[in-house]
Parts: sequence; C-alpha cells; structure tokens
Amino acid sequence: MSTIYNFCAGPAMLPAAVMQKAQQELLDWQGHGVSVMEISHRSQAFIDLTKAAESRLRSLMNIPEDYHVLFMHGGGRGQFSAVVNNFLGNNGRALYLESGQWSKSATAEARKLAGDDRIDSQSIVEKVNGLNKVTLPKLEGDSGKYRYVHYCPNETVDGVEIFEELESPWPIVADMSSTIMSREIDVSRYGLIYAGAQKNIGPSGLAIVIVRKEMLALPAMPQSSIMDYRLAAENDSMFNTPPTFAWYLAAEVFEWLHRVGGIEAMAELNKAKAELLYACIDELDFYRNGVAAQNRSRMNVTFQLADESLNGEFLKEAETAGLVALKGHRIVGGMRASIYNAMPLAGVEALVAFMQAFAAKHSS
Ligand SMILES: *Cc1c(COP(=O)(O)O)cnc(C)c1O
Repeated sequence: MSTIYNFCAGPAMLPAAVMQKAQQELLDWQGHGVSVMEISHRSQAFIDLTKAAESRLRSLMNIPEDYHVLFMHGGGRGQFSAVVNNFLGNNGRALYLESGQWSKSATAEARKLAGDDRIDSQSIVEKVNGLNKVTLPKLEGDSGKYRYVHYCPNETVDGVEIFEELESPWPIVADMSSTIMSREIDVSRYGLIYAGAQKNIGPSGLAIVIVRKEMLALPAMPQSSIMDYRLAAENDSMFNTPPTFAWYLAAEVFEWLHRVGGIEAMAELNKAKAELLYACIDELDFYRNGVAAQNRSRMNVTFQLADESLNGEFLKEAETAGLVALKGHRIVGGMRASIYNAMPLAGVEALVAFMQAFAAKHSS
C-alpha cells in the first residue's frame, strides 16, 4: 500500500503507532482473551485504564488539582448544550464571543436552551484588508453579570486561531475541540475547557471536559443525567456506560504524546508544519489564504486556488497522489488541510511538493 496522508478535519487521522497497537490488541486486550470493547466498564482492568488515561492527560496538560477531568458522551456539540444546562440555572446569563462557524453554532444552541435575552453575543472577527482578523474585546463589568464567557480558540471551518489570551472578569469556557494539546496552555486560566475527541484525541463521540471544581456549585437547569457534570464527577465519568473503546484509544493517544515528547515538542512540530504550508501558499500567486497572519490556524490551513475552476482537478490529482480529504468545508468552499498532532511533517512536505507541482503545471 502506498502512503496515504489524510487531511480530514474530523474524524481525523490518528497516530499510526496507536492504530497498530489497537489492531494488535483488538481481539485480546492485556491477555484477558476478549476485546477492550467486550469488557465491563466496572472491571478493575477498565477502571485502571481510565485512571491511567486521566493521569496521562493531567500530566500532559499540567491540569491543576482543583479541576475535574471528565470523559463524556456527545462530542463537541453535546457540550454546546451541556455548559448552558449545567451553569445557567433559571436566571443566569452568558456572553458568547463569535469568531467563526463553530462559535456561532454554540451561540445558537445556547439561545435555544436559555432564550435570546439571557445570551449576549459579540462578533470578534472582521475583515481587515480582505483578511479575517480577530480582535479580543476588553471585557469589563460586574463579576456577577455573566456566569461565563464562551469562545472558540480555533475555528476549524474558517482556519482562524486565537493565540492571544482572553482576559475576563467571568469564568472562561473554551471550545478547544480542534486545538487541544496542539500547543501549551495554562489550564488555570479557564473555568471549563471542552473538546470533541475526533481531532486531536481519538474516535468521535467522546468529549473531554476539564472543569474547575468550584464551577460545579453554579445552579443547573433540569437536564439529562448523563450530561450533568456533577453526576459525571461523582461517578468517575461512569454514571452510565461510557464509550469504552473511544476512552481506550484516547488513553493510547495520550501515551503516544508522552512518548514523542509531550505537548511542548508537539507544539514545535505543529508550528513548523503550519509555517511550511503557509509559506508555500504565500510564495505562489496560484494560492491564497484569507486569514490575518496572527490568526492563521496551525491545525486547519484553509486556502483557495486563484482559479477556482481548477478546484475539481486539484482534488482529483491530490487524491491520486495519496493526499486525501482536502476539500474545504461546504460553507466556506476552497481547500482545507487539517494538520493535527497525528499528521507527520512528511505529510505536509508531500502536500507542499504536490501544490508546487500542480501550480507549475497549470500556470503557463
Ligand atoms: C468538530 C468541532 C465541533 C463539533 O464536534 P462534534 O463532535 O461533531 O459535535 C465543535 N467545535 C469545534 C471547534 C469543532 O472543531
């Protein structure tokens, strides 16, 4: 089989070493004679796995003791509603900052559950010289005005990333679905961090929630038990049967991250990968990227062909060259190369070589 590089935005590629280990263990996990999928989540072996997963994640991300780490159902969008239901009670208000498609979807879900008048929103992205640029607002006001402020540090669809730190008098809730563990962050700055797993963690369906313990004292709305952070925390994320295989794979990805040098090493590699790709886009008039330099995503590199009539051919030839899933999101069009942690440098090098050759061939 020739090498395939998968640039899918999610479910995204997983580290080859992790997939190989999972394959080896698929039918007989740790000598139990059965798959990890076929074992009770209450068994000691599985409980040990969950403890290892949590401690690996805690050390990777340097998560303080006063935070819970929860493994939940429902992916990223499940958390759009969970944060509202868990924190807004019957009269709480929240502020939503919008920088692209995902943060707008989060606002819409919050309004659906809490009503328009309890959810304030503010756009923080604008076109400057034709490029999308984020300006973080100066957030000021009574600390009781909002229960939290929600934002999305990496907009997966738009290829917009926010590297600057948000300052806020209210707890910060961050949708880190597509940026978690791609670079170092200070967890103590956040009231809650959540991430759907299928970008940098493991299979889809699972969500990781990192929440400051004192946030759980906020009053909740009536809600489904399986999305209740308090019940999840009290029950070690096993109020009901958890997505066990996804949890197992996440634990393996965390171990792989440790092996390759942790998040610091990963961040350096991610920066190098992104710079290589943006340099190629900037060098050739054939391609363009519509994001201001300081907000160019290191995980999702969006680009357009100057001649969009070549889109179909670009995708077809790329696929023939083993470079798959480069089509941009249907809302924004163009191309998108998602280069999460699991994408090796060689994958980006292969893409750049292809893009140079494609441009040379078609710009005579
Ligand atoms: C993928 C993604 C989501 C949605 O995740 P689902 O698991 O499909 O619900 C939400 N937010 C961001 C930033 C994402 O990248």
